[in-house]
Amino acid sequence: MDLVVKINIVPEKCRGCRACETACAWWDKPPFNPRRAGIHIIKDEEAGSEYPLLNMECQEKFCGKQAPGAGSLLEPACVTACLFEALQVEKEEVRDAG
Ligand code: SF4
Ligand code: SF4
Repeated sequence: MDLVVKINIVPEKCRGCRACETACAWWDKPPFNPRRAGIHIIKDEEAGSEYPLLNMECQEKFCGKQAPGAGSLLEPACVTACLFEALQVEKEEVRDAG
């Protein structure tokens, strides 16, 4: 069995704080650059709101970036950093193809 960690986005809960981008980019090699994060905040000018958009790879397997002390939680750093529950993790066990 493989464990698939899926991230559900709840766009209406997003406050545009960009803590998720920062937390993700913190794990990358210097120089620090939130533009290289696996998540980006999109501004909807018309609606006056912001919402997160995740890279496809982030939905395919657990990225391994997690907050210090998170242990076996398997919660990506972007999810832990979001204090508004706009990112929620869902774990699912799937059978190996072979
Ligand atoms: S899932 Fe991992 S790589 Fe993707 S945005 Fe979150 S912390 Fe970054
Ligand atoms: S998804 Fe969460 S952490 Fe990211 S900008 Fe929205 S509210 Fe902030």
